[in-house]
Amino acid sequence: RSNNLQGYAPICLGFEDFYKRRLYLRIQDCFGRPISSAPDAWLDVIERNSNDNNKTLKRTSNISRCLNLGSYNYLGFAASDEYCTPRVIESLKKFSPSTCSSRADGGTIMMHNELEKYVANFVGKPAAIVFGMGYVTNSAILPVLISKGGLIISDSLNHSSIVNGARGSGATIRVFQHNTPSHLEEVLREQIAEGQPRTHRPWKKIIVVVEGIYSMEGDLCKLPEIIAICKKYKAYSYLDEAHSIGAVGKTGRGVCELLGVDPADVDILMGTFTKSFGSCGGYIAGSKELIQYLKHTSPAHLYATSMSPPAVQQIISAIKVILGEDGSCRGAQKLAQIRENSNFFRSELQSMGFEVLGDNDSPVMPIMLYNPGKIPAFSRECLKQNVAVVMSAFPATPLLLARARICISASHTKEDLIKGLEVISRVGDLVGIKYFPAQPKEQ
Ligand code: PMP
Repeated sequence: RSNNLQGYAPICLGFEDFYKRRLYLRIQDCFGRPISSAPDAWLDVIERNSNDNNKTLKRTSNISRCLNLGSYNYLGFAASDEYCTPRVIESLKKFSPSTCSSRADGGTIMMHNELEKYVANFVGKPAAIVFGMGYVTNSAILPVLISKGGLIISDSLNHSSIVNGARGSGATIRVFQHNTPSHLEEVLREQIAEGQPRTHRPWKKIIVVVEGIYSMEGDLCKLPEIIAICKKYKAYSYLDEAHSIGAVGKTGRGVCELLGVDPADVDILMGTFTKSFGSCGGYIAGSKELIQYLKHTSPAHLYATSMSPPAVQQIISAIKVILGEDGSCRGAQKLAQIRENSNFFRSELQSMGFEVLGDNDSPVMPIMLYNPGKIPAFSRECLKQNVAVVMSAFPATPLLLARARICISASHTKEDLIKGLEVISRVGDLVGIKYFPAQPKEQ
């Protein structure tokens, strides 16, 4: 099994264009399907029928109750929760959905400060700052951290929000091969002479940006090696834990905990609340000086309306459940369940003969289709059999590396997972994407 997708084949523009115009229009119904329920283990999907001629794309309002294998609801907090939901409703009544003001003006409520303390404590940093959107956390904070004269070294498969932030910063950008520490070191060596102090280098500052779990690949960052290289070359490290915080590690503290890295050794920890915590927003955690600096200089803190109070309450409550501060052991159970569910689903898919990307423990598991022409059959057949899957395709992935991205939740029961596997197996046979021989089950 090769999970190595480095060196994506360059594809000429005309070919891309052909696919975008001719193919995408015919498979639009496979993307952005509206839903009409919470994104729990099961959800209601509003079916959109597409016939062959896009001009007569019909929209119907049939609702299918589907097993949800697409949302980032890793710990199951996206649904009604006995601890979180009553508190969120209370905060909505007390504060309304919006503060109608930025943090620097009248938009800071005590809950924002409390959340920042909780987040800092949870991720193991002295301080944290929160923002209303995860995407903005990367795209608006990188430009505050670095500018012209600085160097960003970015993993080749980093998320769009990082790419946006890096470009917006005006710093020079170099890309290293996806999750390949040796190539990161090569790039660093090219840029600076080893052992020189920070003050004697051609760059004002160097930031290496990586993700904890890569959203399109499902693999875990080779963090220990990458942090060692950052230290050796005196570059700052920036880790986006959108998909890993809350989802992996014995107590949910992300890839640092899972891979045995001291959070103190990562300079900047970033994460989002839209996955494991079932809410909205993002955070940056770091030293007190860094967070103070961001509070004084970051436009997203100074000029954007602060995080919605019910969203803040949801995160605080979810963290309390994870830490067991709600007085139950549900948090620990959820963490054990997401791990068990993810590892079971991944190994079953692999033994069926699918090419599944990513690592054990990761709840993100892309099943490779390769040919984008296989997207409609895969997606529509799954939907017909009441399984909702997310298709990841160009431009989010290279053109000929289309995939179905499965996201597993702690709220999936064993029966749910078995149903999902049966449907995916049947559809996989139909579409012809079992690229490996099936492995016999161990007795
Ligand atoms: N970083 C990564 C790695 C992501 O995958 C995402 C979105 N899935 C974001 C940042 C943006 O976060 P949000 O969706 O919370 O805005």
